Amino acid sequence: MQASCADCIQIEPPNPTGKDPPISSHPNSALLGQAVARPASTRPTAVLGRYAVPIGAIHLLGLLCLVPAFFSWTGVVVCLVGVHLFGQAITMGYHRLLAHRSFECAKWFEHLLVGLAMCCFEDTPARWVATHRIHHAHSDEEEDPHSPLVDLFWGHMGWLFIRNRTLHTTSSYEKYARDILRDPFYFWLERRSWRPALLWLLHTVAFFAVGTAIAWPLWGPVEALWFGGSLVVWGVFVRTLLVWHITWSVNSLTHLFGYRNHQTQENSRNNWLVALVAAGEGWHNNHHHDPACCSVSHRWWELDVTHLEVKLLQRLGIVHSIVPRREIRRTEALQRALAPELDPA
Ligand SMILES: [Zn+2]
Ligand SMILES: [Zn+2]
Repeated sequence: MQASCADCIQIEPPNPTGKDPPISSHPNSALLGQAVARPASTRPTAVLGRYAVPIGAIHLLGLLCLVPAFFSWTGVVVCLVGVHLFGQAITMGYHRLLAHRSFECAKWFEHLLVGLAMCCFEDTPARWVATHRIHHAHSDEEEDPHSPLVDLFWGHMGWLFIRNRTLHTTSSYEKYARDILRDPFYFWLERRSWRPALLWLLHTVAFFAVGTAIAWPLWGPVEALWFGGSLVVWGVFVRTLLVWHITWSVNSLTHLFGYRNHQTQENSRNNWLVALVAAGEGWHNNHHHDPACCSVSHRWWELDVTHLEVKLLQRLGIVHSIVPRREIRRTEALQRALAPELDPA
């Protein structure tokens, strides 16, 4: 499914020579890895309005946090708790569960995570998963939708503003997100492009309504309305922006800055700062080395909060199985293969 032409504003004529324009490069690209061209399918350049407009609008709305009247400590706490709660819908839900199937859980919990992910306004499950699987299939190559080896801004958020003509097509869904679209809920989300936006707006209204309703009997109507507003500004706008930039940092910073435990075929890095704010996702070189594994911690000090939470959910009976490291999977596969020989009975 591609964005309609109404979403696109043509700003660059087609390239009649058919040759690639000069490759842009990161200032430190010689040290960090070969510079790559952005995907050919993003040329000629056309702004993708369905992403650019909401991303721009929510960044502007986030500036309301600078207005003192919208400040409340409750709003700040709701924001910080929300960064982890809703952020885990992306990290645990979209990434480790849907994109990599690194653990199995109750269906109601999977749908709960996706419901929370819709409140992050990142993408539908099929779009997010397809984009991420393409990233793994073509990491830091020209086909990578968001390699920061094009340049840092492109890898972080620039790629979202430009239409990529092969990214969300029927054939890319067939190849990269067929399993996701088998779920009727995810298919329903995919059918109409306005549905994710509506869900995000509804949850924004819910934050305002609940905040106002709680504060009304305590402080009266005027104070209650300002309090409801503070929950929207901090608990929704600022939190949405923080979750966006944390997710985007995994795409950008962890392919540029940090150390490598494994000599993988791309420029992935382990970045402690991103790992800290993204509940473990910053150990990205470890993840590229073994994408199927639920844990991204390969050293004792590489804290992976998401994996710890998945293990806790397993103790609670919500998670049924967790994919272990590659070495353990190989040993288990070998044991299964040899089992009939060892125990012919
Ligand atoms: Zn990566
Ligand atoms: Zn991944």
